[in-house]
Amino acid sequence: MSILEKMKLTGKTAFITGGARGIGKSVAIAFAQAGANIVIADFDLIEAEKTAIEIADREGVRTLAVKTDVTDQASINNLIDVIKQEFGKLDIAFCNAGICLNIPAEDMTLEQWSKVINVNLTGVFLTAQAAGKLMIEQGTGGSIINTASMSAHIVNVPQPQCAYNASKAGVIQLTKSLAIEWAKHNVRVNSLSPGYIGTELTLNSKDLQPLIKEWNAIAPLHRMGTPEELQAICVYLAGDTSTFTTGSDFIIDGAFTCF
Ligand code: NAD
Repeated sequence: MSILEKMKLTGKTAFITGGARGIGKSVAIAFAQAGANIVIADFDLIEAEKTAIEIADREGVRTLAVKTDVTDQASINNLIDVIKQEFGKLDIAFCNAGICLNIPAEDMTLEQWSKVINVNLTGVFLTAQAAGKLMIEQGTGGSIINTASMSAHIVNVPQPQCAYNASKAGVIQLTKSLAIEWAKHNVRVNSLSPGYIGTELTLNSKDLQPLIKEWNAIAPLHRMGTPEELQAICVYLAGDTSTFTTGSDFIIDGAFTCF
């Protein structure tokens, strides 16, 4: 079998949190193009449904949108129940939903801190836990990919985002911990650390958008990345050519963190 054949995800089921738009949507499209059935798990049901229909129409796989709040255990339980009912199994989980608040550390309230940690770190834990539990029950193994960030490795400047940076550093250590615990079940867990990527989170943020010129001036490639530039690494991690890859973090940042 050729390497491209081996990379296919035909017959697999994937959920993508934060899959309605941005990086999650782009990776969902890539999983679908590789043959996987897709569950878009997002807080924003209207956008999630649009994305699910768009992917089904264009790629010819089965898709479903499920309103999911990654910070809410009952909502995640519902996501897993729906997946069991509709698809019978889960092979791939992309735990990707995340938010960013830009607030100086000295002014940040507990509520603001908790909001970021709850979505970015606890949300990744809860969704990865649910996916891992189901994969262990199934006895089939599986692949979990958690979205961290280059902000786990460096402190981005000039924006003040200590909760975001801390949450993403937590995602990497959580990923490694789960990879060790679940190695015996053949459930692989890796993380993705993107650099600046052009999505709603950056391009349409009133805090971040004005900083793009500044970031691009120091970026080795003098530009942001696109969501499409994260697709292939995720297809690799999701599929059966990466069976020796677990507990790793993949920095895809155009060399931004190299200096
Ligand atoms: P985005 O804002 O475009 O999309 C995020 C999606 O997550 C939205 O569809 C939103 O509805 C959903 N979401 C938010 N809170 C949720 C919740 N509680 N439950 C379920 N869904 C929720 O963001 P993006 O740029 O595509 O970012 C995706 C991930 O990549 C995030 O974890 C982000 O931190 C990370 N990341 C982004 C960049 C970047 O430059 N864009 C860089 C590094 C890492």
